[in-house]
Amino acid sequence: MYRRFDAACADAAQSTAQTGKLIAPYRCPDCGMYHIGHASYAEQGQFQKDVKRPCRNCGGRIPTKRIVLGAAFCSPECRTAFRDAKIGKGESLDAPAR
Ligand SMILES: [Zn+2]
Ligand SMILES: [Zn+2]
Repeated sequence: MYRRFDAACADAAQSTAQTGKLIAPYRCPDCGMYHIGHASYAEQGQFQKDVKRPCRNCGGRIPTKRIVLGAAFCSPECRTAFRDAKIGKGESLDAPAR
């Protein structure tokens, strides 16, 4: 178990990369600490979709470790490049979803 959520996240991401199955961090209702474990089937399904999602900037494969953390880019560099391109076009990054 983990005292810190980011430590649980890091281990969950590593386990996910090793097993190819989504291991998710969660807060235990019993002890109040963080554990990692197999995600629910619903989350597994979403994960299988996310795995196939290409990087929003370069279209490349996103490393599993990053997908677990919800990243939409293959690398921090791609995220920065994508953001800079958006700003260059005068688009707002956090335009409200309609
Ligand atoms: Zn517990
Ligand atoms: Zn990329």
